[in-house]
Amino acid sequence: MSFIIKCLDCGHNTPYYPTSTTCPKCGSQWREAEYDYELIGQTLREQLTSRPFDLWRYRELLPVRKPNVSLSLGEGGSPLVRAANLGMMLGCPNIFIKDERQGPTSSFKDRQASITIAALKEAGITEMVAASTGNVAISYSAYASRAGMKLWAFVTSLVPGVKMREIALYGSQVIKITGSYDQCKQVASEFARQRGLYQDMGARTITSIEAMKTIAFEIAEQLTAALGPTENSKWQTPDWYVQAVSGGMGPIGVYKGFREMKQMGWINDLPAFAPIQAEGCAPMVDSWKKGLEKAEPVTSPKTRIETLATGDPGRAYEFLRAKVNETHGAFESVSDEDAFRAMHVLAKMEGISAEPAAAAAFAGLFKLIRAGVIKPSDTVVVNCTGHTLPAESFVLGDNWSHDVKFPSKDETPQEGLLSALTQVAPERFPKIAIVEDTTEARRLIRRILQSQGNFTIIEATNGREGLEMIQRELPDLIILDLMMPELDGFSVLEALRSKSETASIPVIVATAKELTPDEKNRLGGQIQALLQKGDFLNDEFLEEVRSLIK
Ligand SMILES: *Cc1c(COP(=O)(O)O)cnc(C)c1O
Ligand SMILES: [Zn+2]
Repeated sequence: MSFIIKCLDCGHNTPYYPTSTTCPKCGSQWREAEYDYELIGQTLREQLTSRPFDLWRYRELLPVRKPNVSLSLGEGGSPLVRAANLGMMLGCPNIFIKDERQGPTSSFKDRQASITIAALKEAGITEMVAASTGNVAISYSAYASRAGMKLWAFVTSLVPGVKMREIALYGSQVIKITGSYDQCKQVASEFARQRGLYQDMGARTITSIEAMKTIAFEIAEQLTAALGPTENSKWQTPDWYVQAVSGGMGPIGVYKGFREMKQMGWINDLPAFAPIQAEGCAPMVDSWKKGLEKAEPVTSPKTRIETLATGDPGRAYEFLRAKVNETHGAFESVSDEDAFRAMHVLAKMEGISAEPAAAAAFAGLFKLIRAGVIKPSDTVVVNCTGHTLPAESFVLGDNWSHDVKFPSKDETPQEGLLSALTQVAPERFPKIAIVEDTTEARRLIRRILQSQGNFTIIEATNGREGLEMIQRELPDLIILDLMMPELDGFSVLEALRSKSETASIPVIVATAKELTPDEKNRLGGQIQALLQKGDFLNDEFLEEVRSLIK
């Protein structure tokens, strides 16, 4: 495999050597690898069919001369999971999750570490420095230990203790810096400079960008397997790529992957890029919204999501801005609370437990869909960049478990335990009736309600059955579909209102269609809320549910 390093500022070409980090002609640190796209474009796709699904299947397009099997931990090849429940909830059926939690150390930094360490090992380098908000240092530590390399990990004191201990467990030197992440990077740089050590430079590290681009290759292959090839038999690409961003290395690398595939004629279009930041540290988003060409740094980041706390993105912003604008994407920011809420929704709707930083991407997705920027028909890939460990207590709050006290001495164990268990008995929870003929919609409403609190949910699949169930069970709240066989929602409502026991039970009507003025008239005054299907994530709906059952 042959490639050259091209300076992004003056265009000067040099051979690759991992420790030379600036352009010899102009001194720029912004350079990237270039391959023989014409040749590789013609030959690689066929070779792929017989290779395992990990990131080394694209080795002709990676800056490592000979993949080192003994270093590999099975990096890359993460699943692309269809998020059917989220899709239904958001009215956007084609949402896919690139599940990077499934990397060897549970974040997408494993791609960066595996390729960088392989390149360093190949060049005979035995010691390195990395500044990190946690995940980079964990990944580098794991691979450094396999390569017999020493890692100096500079982390901010805000990095969760369990992450720091994991870094130390792999045998790395942990240096805790009390200060911002930007300050931490400065100290690490100075340390590396004084000792002449190799240093990870985030988005300016050639191997890191090359590693991240494999995400794009995999997405295209996996989306093609899921949806079939395009009409002109190219690989599929999503309409949107959404990722939570700190330094910007991920999306810059992923963009390069899509651009290379386009150059090689493998795909038709690039996705629009949507980098998401935390509101309390969103220099890229804020600068983009102000139309600035250079980022205004955030000097004191105010977010509890340490992973996203790069206050000064430097020129990474300029590069990413160009890519976002070129692909008609959008930068967006979300509050910490939005990210924590998204973390809950993702876990409860899709069984995916993501760390707050990764969840920020999902909060951004929700926001962009609501704002109409991402359209219902768009195919979206969200990068689930890392796993929840630890689930910080502020994310979960109190009341996340039911405490059942073991019986005291004077009760017989049997009685005591049973009485203790009645504390968690569903009879104690508010009862909500769902009357809805579509199985999917019923399942979705149930899931959303369950994800928001403790309710006893009863269900009926048509109007007649629903009416009987309501009269028998007298629920605290009814969620009613209008178009149903047997007896439609309008008639159910009329029947309920004509009997004193059921007349005052609050009703939320869920409907898939716009109501005619006449239909609205028929409902007039009889219901508490009208809910358009596909708009289920609306906080107002859940607020409504909570206020109605009080
Ligand atoms: C590093 C990291 C990010 C931010 O990635 P960049 O592309 O470097 O901005 C997001 N989420 C997680 C879990 C990370 O570890
Ligand atoms: Zn140059």
